Amino acid sequence: MNFTRHGALAISLGTVALFSAHASAENSTLPTGATACALEVVVLGAGQDAGAPQLGNPQDMGARLLPTSLAVIDRENGQRFLLEATPAVTQQVHALDAIAPPDTETPGGLGLDAVLLTHAHIGHYLGLAQFGFESASADGQLVLAMPRMAEFLRNNGPWSQLVEKGNIEIVELADGQLQPISDIFGVWPITVPHRDEYSETVGYLMMTPQRTALFVPDLDSWDEWEAASGDTLEGLLARVDYAFVDATFYDDNELIDENGDGRDMSAIPHPRVLDTMERLEALPAQVRAKVHFIHYNHTNPIRDAASKESTGVIARGFNVARRGDRVCLVDGG
Ligand SMILES: [Zn+2]
Ligand SMILES: [Zn+2]
Repeated sequence: MNFTRHGALAISLGTVALFSAHASAENSTLPTGATACALEVVVLGAGQDAGAPQLGNPQDMGARLLPTSLAVIDRENGQRFLLEATPAVTQQVHALDAIAPPDTETPGGLGLDAVLLTHAHIGHYLGLAQFGFESASADGQLVLAMPRMAEFLRNNGPWSQLVEKGNIEIVELADGQLQPISDIFGVWPITVPHRDEYSETVGYLMMTPQRTALFVPDLDSWDEWEAASGDTLEGLLARVDYAFVDATFYDDNELIDENGDGRDMSAIPHPRVLDTMERLEALPAQVRAKVHFIHYNHTNPIRDAASKESTGVIARGFNVARRGDRVCLVDGG
């Protein structure tokens, strides 16, 4: 594991101290694109794993959703990072290329300095297949993943073939440990409770000397996370400038039709958008403004920017992440 071979500056231990110097909360209200940006986060998709329309819903004429994915563009070091390899990875990386053209000299050949994965559910890693022999045939694409996720990829086809053929090279991360990437960027995985059939599940802190963004697209419950971590969502929000958090379902009634038929939502735990907003209601406006709801199911009414639920989220001081959104973590460039 050595990012310096990709042209990034070497990291010294002193850099870790740099990451603790977070910017003040008012920075989170910087209008997108208002200043030149040296390092930014771009939303490449904001939908749940299956996006929308989903298989079996040919009549769904709502806004098209791509599965949740973020990109990080570091203009200072000429680097690009992809968070999640979704089933729509081809379209999403092409969208990234249009914003920040790839440096094809980057190992892997696609101009991605690393792909970061959160867990082994379909919307979050199936796109890795596109790095393989039948598609881009990447050469040594770095993939950052937690140990169980890495083990799963190494030991199960077709993913194991990507490893064997050298299409991907897995770098293992450790829970709660900063992984420095360049002199101005590092990632900090945070384990969260989720259905962990094949892998553990993490979110990421994307850290820079100026601002930090949190990415937790999928978890069962904030209460469970708090009990396991000893931390609080409110505490986490105090330490970041932007928070892209699980908004899979709006409320408990979403998968039930007018006849009362549908899927039992108690078997699909996720923090509901309504509950998260209520939980954070008493926080100051500048803290609420850090929250960007992401990973919404095709049934979630916030999918439609004009819905009363979407406008309600905004009226309560929160945000709904939309494909194409950009937030700046380091000014300049
Ligand atoms: Zn998901
Ligand atoms: Zn999941």
